Amino acid sequence: MINKEQIELIGDNHISSSTETPMLPTAFDKSDDDKIKNIQQYFGMIMEELGLDLSDDSLSGTPYRFAKMYVKELFYGLNPKNKPKLSTFENKYGYKKMLIEQNITIDSSCEHHFLPITGHAHIAYLPKDKVIGLSKINRLVDYYAHRPQVQERLSLQILKDLQNILETEDVIIMICAKHLCVSSRGIKDKNSFTTTIEYGGYFNDKANRDEFLNTVNNKVV
Ligand SMILES: [Zn+2]
Repeated sequence: MINKEQIELIGDNHISSSTETPMLPTAFDKSDDDKIKNIQQYFGMIMEELGLDLSDDSLSGTPYRFAKMYVKELFYGLNPKNKPKLSTFENKYGYKKMLIEQNITIDSSCEHHFLPITGHAHIAYLPKDKVIGLSKINRLVDYYAHRPQVQERLSLQILKDLQNILETEDVIIMICAKHLCVSSRGIKDKNSFTTTIEYGGYFNDKANRDEFLNTVNNKVV
């Protein structure tokens, strides 16, 4: 067990312990409906502990809304059965240069404070024999974003999946995001944001990385 000081340290430094999201082996033994029922009860207790009167019309439905939002909306990406089907196609065009999908919305939550992380992901790959539908990249980002996260792990999870699916190391991902736990609590810095860049293969070459970064920075759409 870690003590309270270590708990604060991990939260404030946003340290992650592994690339995989730490999950219990029993994570999906219960149905979503059972989880919603339990979380509704627990969150009602939290509200009452804070002194709120749940018999008030405005508050009475909040524990249910909160529980449904957690299981079905914010954290649907914890459950592998919700992972989008990422079918690939043969690269019939023979397009072999960089393909960039930019400004992909990031709507995530920090796993240390359960507060929003919002921003954008920019992803590029060099097609080999396989290509993927453009919207599938957005769906994969959305899936991994919808679980309690740290930005570094989110970047790596998306990168590794794309490298596996596309059967190439030549993938790069950059995420720029604001963390509410930095802007609305703790240091309360409203302007700072966090950038992570992960890549492999072709993008280990600085010139190739610069080509990607220049395109992303010169938004022409
Ligand atoms: Zn946080």
